[in-house]
Amino acid sequence: MRRRIVAGNWKMNGSLELARSLVGEVREGIVELDNGAEVVIIPPALYVASVQQLLNGQARVGVQNIAAWDAGAYTGEISGQMAVDVGCEFAIVGHSERRELFGESDAVIAEKVDRGIAAGLKIILCVGETLAQREAGLAVEVVSAQLREALKSVSGEQWKQVVVAYEPVWAIGTGKTATSEDAQAVHQAIRSLLGELGAPEQEITLLYGGSVKPDNASELFAQPDIDGGLIGGASLKAPDFLAICKAI
Ligand code: PGA
Repeated sequence: MRRRIVAGNWKMNGSLELARSLVGEVREGIVELDNGAEVVIIPPALYVASVQQLLNGQARVGVQNIAAWDAGAYTGEISGQMAVDVGCEFAIVGHSERRELFGESDAVIAEKVDRGIAAGLKIILCVGETLAQREAGLAVEVVSAQLREALKSVSGEQWKQVVVAYEPVWAIGTGKTATSEDAQAVHQAIRSLLGELGAPEQEITLLYGGSVKPDNASELFAQPDIDGGLIGGASLKAPDFLAICKAI
């Protein structure tokens, strides 16, 4: 059985006050979850410690990004080792916002994957095509190239630390979701590519992300190769996030 995961990516949103109210509510809801879903909260790094304390062990915590280096003169950066040091279990790597707004290349993303795995993190590697790429029929090709590059040095036991999130760029924060059939088709292609790359592909958790909401989560999560979700906007509203966790 693959791990089923719902991860909430707060992005650069929130405050201590929001963390207190949101996490308080989410924690109470998680206690009642009986579907085996693993819940991960990924707040801005500055709030990780507070969120962890508020969660009191009821969910896992992660960071939204890690550096491509372990330590040194890299002002503003946070290493995977530091994330582990403060109790994070997960790190998102290669989110399309990092790729687009911060110019992260596939090579940089590959470096982050390697450093994060070496530090002991589970990596949520994001891949996805733009609207123009999808309309040109290149979705699987683009996603495959991103995966090949990012995962080129992963091997053996390290695959246990890899989660892949398929996030079509045109669906992120736009209210447009891939149909469950389209998402499933790409997930299936991803799983088969992972096999080609030497991964135990049937054991790897694949998440869908991009405007997941309470009203579309069940249908997406019912697809055979969709093992959960990476949730942006809806993770900032406790009732919505909990409803999505329950949809697993
Ligand atoms: P969204 O974001 O749910 O707000 O579309 C998803 C993500 O970027 O991880």
